[in-house]
Formats: sequence, C-alpha cells, structure tokens
Amino acid sequence: MAILNSNLKIFHYPEKLRSLSGSSVSVLPPLHVRLKPTNICNHDCWFCAYRQDDFQLGETMVERDQIPLEKMMEIVDDLIEMKVGAVTFSGGGEPFVYPHLLQTVTRLAEAGIPFASLTNGSRLLGEVAQVFAERGVWVRVSLDGWDGPSYAKIRRVKQTAFGKVLANMETFKKLGGRCLLSTVIVVTHENGPHIYDLVRTLSGLGADSIKISPVVVSNDERKNHAYHQEHLDLVRNEVARSKADFGHLTEISDAFYGQLASFFKDYHWCPFLQIRPVIGADLNVYSCQDKAYNPDGLLFSIKGRGFRDAWHRDKGQFLRLDPSKVCNHHCVANGGNKLIFEYLGTDPQHLPFV
Ligand code: SF4
Repeated sequence: MAILNSNLKIFHYPEKLRSLSGSSVSVLPPLHVRLKPTNICNHDCWFCAYRQDDFQLGETMVERDQIPLEKMMEIVDDLIEMKVGAVTFSGGGEPFVYPHLLQTVTRLAEAGIPFASLTNGSRLLGEVAQVFAERGVWVRVSLDGWDGPSYAKIRRVKQTAFGKVLANMETFKKLGGRCLLSTVIVVTHENGPHIYDLVRTLSGLGADSIKISPVVVSNDERKNHAYHQEHLDLVRNEVARSKADFGHLTEISDAFYGQLASFFKDYHWCPFLQIRPVIGADLNVYSCQDKAYNPDGLLFSIKGRGFRDAWHRDKGQFLRLDPSKVCNHHCVANGGNKLIFEYLGTDPQHLPFV
C-alpha cells in the first residue's frame, strides 16, 4: 500500500508553501480543516486528552456543545466555496454521535470535497456508514482493548461494546466502496503486551491500515517519556512481530518513537495553523488539534459570522501564537513545521548547489 501518513504531503502544495512566512500571513485558504461537530461522546476513555483536568488540550471544552445544523451547513458551504482540499471529522466528542453527520457528509460528497473521520466505531452503521463507504476517503477506528473486559475497562463501557465495534467494522468492509478502514491502537501499559493479538484481530476483520501510536499521559515531555520507557522494549517486540506477519498493514506512527521527543519548540510562528486549522463545536477556530479548546490556540470565533469571512478578516491572528512560549507539549505538526522552516529558510543563492 502507498504511504498514507507523511510529513512530506505539504510539499505537494508549492503555492501554499510559498505563501507562508513569519512576517506576513497567507491569503490562501487552509488545505485541510478538522471539524469537531460535537463534544458529546458515548465512551469515556481513561486517557482522553480532552477530559483530563491537567491537560492544556480541552481546557475550555463544554461537553454538551455541538454545532447546530444550520450553522454546520453554512460552514460546509464556506469550505466548498473556499475550495478547501479535505475535511476530517474528529473529537472533542464522537463524530458519529452528531445527529446531522449524514446531511453534512452528503453535502461535502455532492461538492466533491474529500472527507474522513476518526471514530470509536460504535455508530459506524446505517445510512451514514454507507455514505462513508461509498464516498469517504477513510475512517479511522480507535481500538485499544483486546477483548470485551479490557475494552470495557479502558473505555468505561459495557463488555459487549467490543464485539459490537468489531461487527460494525466487519460490516463496513462488506459495504465495499473506496473508503479505507483504518484503525489506531493507542498504546498503554495495559495493552502493550497485546499489540500483536490486536493487529491479528484487525487484520482478520479486513482493516486496511493499522496505526500504532503512544498514549499521551501528560503535557510534560519527561513524564510522557518515562511512562513509555517502562514498556518500550516490550512494545518494540510486539511491533516487530506485527510487522513481520502483517507488515503490509502495520504502520508505526512517527509519533511512537519520534513524537515522544516532539514537545519542545524553539520556533516563534506556526506554519501548520494556516494549513490545517480546527473548527470546534463551540464555534471557535483553533490553531490545531493539539490546542483545541485552549485560549492560547484560539484564532477567532465564527459565532454570528461565516468561517470564510473570519478567515480573511482575522488573518492577523495567525502570527499571534508563539509556539516557543505556548506549545511545549504534544504536537502532531511539529515534524511538518520543522520541514517547512528548513524549506523556507534555505538560502536562495545556495539552492542550485543541490
Ligand atoms: S506548534 Fe503545534 S501545538 Fe502549536 S499551534 Fe502549531 S501545530 Fe499546534
């Protein structure tokens, strides 16, 4: 299978790259928008970074917030008008709990905007699953328990929930269509020894890709590192066995070894916030998924005005955020940001000396 996740994707968009600068802001639209339709979730994972008191992520999140249908349609129409390249639905809450997801994705599909979703898989069924199967690009089901009791303990749900999610995934695959069924295993001390078993189960269900990512347990890099250091050899072994037998499926996120060391930032503006911003269920627009529902990540509000209008009028906000001061925590865009700085910072006189 071709590579699905890469920090180099941005280099396929030279116009956007050239528009980025630490001294002036891009007039171009974002390439990809993460949309949080609801903060309501039907699971209660112990490691959910949005729901832990000592995490900067989710600090101001209101769990009952969701985007009203009329506003969602306005947002979608703006994204279509702006020719945004892709939309991913994510939490806050569980996107498939959002009552207007079917109408939302149908409108995106009709406009030809590629869309995808993160999900816990519990509601991956019915008409909305059919639309995803036929017209979505990918869904990524997060699966961390390896059987009914472990799944129930991690997610504080009934023991039958595990079997239902597996059944939904199996049914989803049988719908056919072009949508990839991705999965992510968030690795903890509990499931570390079961990675291989879980990969085998997912492979048997027909999963198209399996991402293995480390749980984030703290804003503090040292604490995170210490947590994973305890089981790193075991995880390496499980991952190696998984790759040996299911290598065509198994992808170790650079998060796993790299992102554990990605907390420190020494740069003063963030390119990625102009590339992949987040629209929250509170109708605020945030810099990224690692600063959603945090005042430091707030770019602007779209209450009472459209996203397109706000993106152009409030673009001065894009350079306000100084990552060296407020982003020394987990950041999925750190690798991409560093590559962009290297690209933009290369001396033009030395470019011919390839
Ligand atoms: S540096 Fe990372 S955490 Fe900070 S705004 Fe940019 S993407 Fe988000």
